[in-house]
Amino acid sequence: MIGSLQISPSSIEESMTHILHRQIHATLPVAAGGKGIELFDRDGRTYIDASGGAAVSCLGHGHPQVTAALHAQADKLAYAHTSFFTNEPAETLADKLVAGAPQGISHAYFVSGGSEAVEAALKMARQFFVETGKPERRNVIARRQSYHGNTLGALAAGGNEWRRAQFRPLLIETHHIEPCYAYRYQEAGESEEAYGLRAAQALEDKILELGPDTVMAFVAEPVVGATAGAVPAVPGYFGRIREICDRYGVLLILDEVMCGMGRTGTLHACEQDGVAPDLMTIAKGLGGGYQPIGAVLLSRRIFDAFAEGSGFFQHGHTYICHPMACAAALAVQEVIARDDLLANVRAMGAHLSQRLGERFGNHAHIGDIRGRGLFMGVELVEDRSTKAPFDPKLKLNAKIKREAMARGLLVYPAGGTIDGMRGDHVLLAPPFIIDAAAIDAVVERLGDAIDAAVP
Ligand code: PMP
Repeated sequence: MIGSLQISPSSIEESMTHILHRQIHATLPVAAGGKGIELFDRDGRTYIDASGGAAVSCLGHGHPQVTAALHAQADKLAYAHTSFFTNEPAETLADKLVAGAPQGISHAYFVSGGSEAVEAALKMARQFFVETGKPERRNVIARRQSYHGNTLGALAAGGNEWRRAQFRPLLIETHHIEPCYAYRYQEAGESEEAYGLRAAQALEDKILELGPDTVMAFVAEPVVGATAGAVPAVPGYFGRIREICDRYGVLLILDEVMCGMGRTGTLHACEQDGVAPDLMTIAKGLGGGYQPIGAVLLSRRIFDAFAEGSGFFQHGHTYICHPMACAAALAVQEVIARDDLLANVRAMGAHLSQRLGERFGNHAHIGDIRGRGLFMGVELVEDRSTKAPFDPKLKLNAKIKREAMARGLLVYPAGGTIDGMRGDHVLLAPPFIIDAAAIDAVVERLGDAIDAAVP
């Protein structure tokens, strides 16, 4: 059931709070509850959660099996420090994740979110080369138009200049190549395959420029989320990236924090690209928002290097392998498997793609509709023929978000940098339980919100 509601943007009242929000003058309603695909605020307004927050709430809200698992775990064991103990939910979850992981993955390392997972993966890559006698390998290559988190290592890897600019003096040195972004960079007359190979060539060029013996890892999102609004690579791109990494002994870190754990219709997005990483980061959909959790999935050769070398991974946080977080993730993943929700992601993803095409295919200000599964994005442009983005001063993202909320819809407005300019995208990542009628309502409300927001 979808609650119907009409409110004006101005009726979202400022909440008096001592919480420091990202925007200091945030005017945010207070979330009071959630059920299924809907969230409710304290004033009784209802919103369809069509982005699962930031692609987090894959099972929706208030799932009884997950809340029951959380209660049971809290009664049994809420916390035990990992320098003394392992724990049952963490062990079971690691077994389950390794069993379903891409080829070569042998272990899981649990942290509390995506940025922590990326930090840990970068340190694993570095320690791998120290343990295997190649300490000169230190350079990280990543892509412009990417987001890997907000802690300093993850921020250094991310390619979004706007996020990095003021913190640059604090960041480790990283090197950025062009993204695989067909809408913007595929040339007229160039096939997808040819474009993919050309885009991947940028990695080899960068490795050769830096000196192959100095390069540690290449980090990339298989489907770019927060900075680009669900941009998948073209077929063949990641296959070539894998070959290049292997040729030069560079570790491939795939960041599936946002696009992973079923969001694109397969458990891992990289399955659709036919590649397996050396290290993979996952988070958001792993715990579905019921607890903060992230993980690094690492390959056998990295584990072996640690096991045969110093015997430990030199890292750690107080809350690694948190029993409550692991129990929540286990319950979320059990429900997804039991109810075959990935089949629904594929079916509803196709429906969403079709409806977006119908509503926005000829829209004067939608340049591109893209994505995979229930991870779809639309890119706004001022002019479809030149693909020029809107002036960032218009703050179109923020306007669309407000107009959507006023219509009882939550979408994730992702602002990326396009050729140095800020661009506007809307990211849709609804819960895996969504049905066709709700998708129709999402597209209708989004269409109205965009039309009300664009100048
Ligand atoms: N990597 C990717 C691909 C992400 O999308 C995000 C979050 N948007 C992160 C890392 C960071 O995750 P977190 O916000 O949980 O630290």
